Amino acid sequence: MLDYDLHCHSTVSDGTLAPVELVAYAASRGVKVLSLTDHDDLDGLAAARAAAAQHGIRFIDGVEISVTWREDVTIHIVGLNIDPAYAPLAQGLIDGRRGRVERAHRMADSLAAAGIGGAFEGAMRFVGNPEFIGRTHFARFLVETGHAKDIGSVFKHFLVKGKPGFVEHEWTTLAEAVEWIIGSGGVAVLAHPGRYTMGRKPLSRKAMRDLLAEFTELGGRAIEVVSGSHTPQQCAEAAHLAQEFGLLASAGSDFHGPGESYRDMGRLPDLPVGCRPVWEAWEGGAASSGAVAVAGSA
Ligand code: AMP
Ligand code: MN
Ligand code: MN
Ligand code: MN
Repeated sequence: MLDYDLHCHSTVSDGTLAPVELVAYAASRGVKVLSLTDHDDLDGLAAARAAAAQHGIRFIDGVEISVTWREDVTIHIVGLNIDPAYAPLAQGLIDGRRGRVERAHRMADSLAAAGIGGAFEGAMRFVGNPEFIGRTHFARFLVETGHAKDIGSVFKHFLVKGKPGFVEHEWTTLAEAVEWIIGSGGVAVLAHPGRYTMGRKPLSRKAMRDLLAEFTELGGRAIEVVSGSHTPQQCAEAAHLAQEFGLLASAGSDFHGPGESYRDMGRLPDLPVGCRPVWEAWEGGAASSGAVAVAGSA
């Protein structure tokens, strides 16, 4: 089992625990190396880092950036070991999330047209950061008001393409997201590759390979292989893609809060055999410099 967890969310984006509570929770779950990767926002990192020091956890500054690829495919790029003080990253994220409130009003209008009123105000009651409102907050409102039994079923009947509450939105470009991460000294990671859709269908194998070719060309260096939202088969497929494209492998729960996550924090399964862990990039393994591996250098 891994004691790394390099993907999770706090109230700064769409998690339910404040950064300090999240770190305490991670410690209670045996996590030794943690990255907080809130969507499009760096505000939780300082508090989480301080809390991690108190718990004896190694903390890696992170972020998860929402990206639009090829007109209308939404993908997520995680940045690990970034520098939160790097101005182009911080400013790019501010610009990228600026449209969220306007988008939320359009989502509420779409729900109202389907007979569900008060969704904007209802979702706002779950928001912890006035700059960040997302689909998860609407999902909590829809569960609270009895329109769905849990968060997972919300994303089958609402908020996804073709269903009430879904609206198109244009996020940051792939090139910008990767550039900001690399510019800040971080490692760009393609998050949960098993979860992407084009229209209402999973991304085709061809589209996934095109995406990875573009991502590596831009300087992307890793892919999430172990993810709380992957099935064992999706994990194996991601491991294959890592090898095919020469990418490092990352691991994270994508935890959003007790009781509503794909998977609890920590205690993630080991990376499949043959994967090179993404933490080589900052722990001084052969991958960090791109140098030829030297026996005993790790
Ligand atoms: P947004 O960035 O506002 O479009 O919201 C995306 C978030 O919705 C993701 O980060 C997840 O937290 C949540 N989400 C999307 N699909 C699902 C799903 N099938 N089950 C649970 N949560 C989901
Ligand atoms: Mn989320
Ligand atoms: Mn994601
Ligand atoms: Mn996430």
